[in-house]
Formats: sequence, structure tokens, C-alpha cells
Amino acid sequence: MKVTVDRFSGFCWGVVRTIEIAEQELSRQEPLYSLGEIIHNPMEIQRLGDKGLSTITVNEMEKAKGGHILIRAHGEPPSTYSRAEELGITIIDATCPVVTKVQERIRKFFLEGFQIVVFGKKEHAEVIGLVGQTQGQAVVIKSLEETDRVQLNRKTVLFSQTTMDKATFYAIRDALKAKIKDLVVGSIEDEAIDFHAKDTICGQVSGRDKKIREFARSNDVVVFVAGRHSSNGKVLFDIVRSENARTHFIEDIAELEPAWFAGAGTVGITGATSTPQWLMERVRQEIERRYVPATESVQSS
Ligand code: SF4
Repeated sequence: MKVTVDRFSGFCWGVVRTIEIAEQELSRQEPLYSLGEIIHNPMEIQRLGDKGLSTITVNEMEKAKGGHILIRAHGEPPSTYSRAEELGITIIDATCPVVTKVQERIRKFFLEGFQIVVFGKKEHAEVIGLVGQTQGQAVVIKSLEETDRVQLNRKTVLFSQTTMDKATFYAIRDALKAKIKDLVVGSIEDEAIDFHAKDTICGQVSGRDKKIREFARSNDVVVFVAGRHSSNGKVLFDIVRSENARTHFIEDIAELEPAWFAGAGTVGITGATSTPQWLMERVRQEIERRYVPATESVQSS
């Protein structure tokens, strides 16, 4: 049985940047609080926790009074920055530059009097940050059915949370376009961060679609590694499973089951943009250790 880690999987550059900023701050040996989990991956949280990173919620910001708080890649609404100022907290802003751009664009349209529609999940941290740019007035929809909540008699701009599914976004755009004459689709163009999309769905997610499909088809069994709260993980897992029915979701090696590998000649390991490479490597080693007979020649790439 050949076990392979998908070489295109692992952290997106926005997450790599956030982790680097956190590690740099942690090396200063001062307490550092992350506002919400720095990444939707419990194993990586534990690794950074061992270096001194604690997680708190917005409601617990008093704990960091006079100290340092890290804003993760998802970003935060303006109210968080004001609260930090009140409490004398220094903000280490690791918001992904793509998300920062989307926030800026939303704020601009809002100030111009547009109705802001965001395709996303209203409880998701990134969306909370986006809606915060509009004083809470943006309409958040997560499906085609919810487009009836949009007012049709207003100039309107449609944005997307960066990790949403492209096909649904464009179905929503078409449905709204049929009803709103001057619908604008929010996009960002930025040479500096190499982002030239016609929407605000991050290429780090949508670009993986094709490659991950190929990877799923080229293996008998796929083990998908991600945190259960990763939005991007859910999207990518659904894509992988649509290509290969023998796909299994795990957070860590304890969830591996021997029955999954019966008769398999090839096993592929892949994951979300929040899944660390070291964790997928650990899964590979564990599968080989448990399920590949010692006499078999084992390869990985
Ligand atoms: S998926 Fe894209 S927008 Fe989200 S953190 Fe990564 S690079 Fe940034």
C-alpha cells in the first residue's frame, strides 16, 4: 500500500503569515493572547499553546488589559479595535491582507450608501469582521434560498466570505442580477498580494479545487485531515468526497480506522488550508506503521 501526502495541501500563505507573526511575538517571552482560536486546528493550537499563546474571546478582553492581543487571519470588526484601545491593549494585527482588502472595499461601498450583501456564514469570525464595517447592517446569506432577504429597490453590492464555494456564489449573483438592475459584484485587485479575482473568494481555496479533485481520483482511499470547525475544511472535504466515496475526515490519528484501508493499493492524505503539514506527515507515518505490513516497500512523496 502506497501512502502519499498531497504536496499541494497545507497552510495557505495567509495562515503561514499569521503563524509567523505569532511565533515572532511569542519569542519575546511576553504573554500573548489570541482573540479566538488562531487557526481551526486543535493540534496546531496546542503546539503554539506550549509556546505561550492563550486563546480568549472578545468578551474576555479584560484579561489582556495593558498586554498584547493577536488578531488572527479572519480579522475583527472595528469595535474590537476600540475596545482594545479602552483597555490599553496593544494589537498585533495578523489579519490576512486579503481579508483586510475585503473589509476596506465593504466599508467604501457602505459609506457610498450601498446595500451590502455578504455570501457567508453569519457566525463565522471573518463575516463578523466584514459586517462590522457596515455598523451591523450588511445582509448575510448562505444559500440561494436566502436571497429573498435582500431589498430589491436599493443599489446593492454582493461580496463573499473568502472561503465560500464559487458555484453557489455565482448562482446567487445570477439570481440577484435578474432582480436588481445595478447589482455590483465586490472584488479586489491588488498587485501587492497577487489578488485579481472577480469576486472575493480566495484563490488559495478555489485554486485548490482542481488539484484536490485530481488527487482524490488518483487514490483508492483518501484521509482528509482538518479541524472540525474549519469552514474551508468542510468545503474541501465535500469536494474530495464527491470525487472519491472512500474519503474519511479526521482531526488526528486516534480517529483512523483499519476498515478504511481494506484492499487499498493507494492512500492519499490531504487537508484544509488550516491543516499543518507536520500533522499530515504524522498521519502518513501512523497509517504506514499500523496498516502497511513490514515487508511491503513503502513510498511517500
Ligand atoms: S484562505 Fe486566503 S483569505 Fe483566507 S487566510 Fe488564507 S490567504 Fe487569507
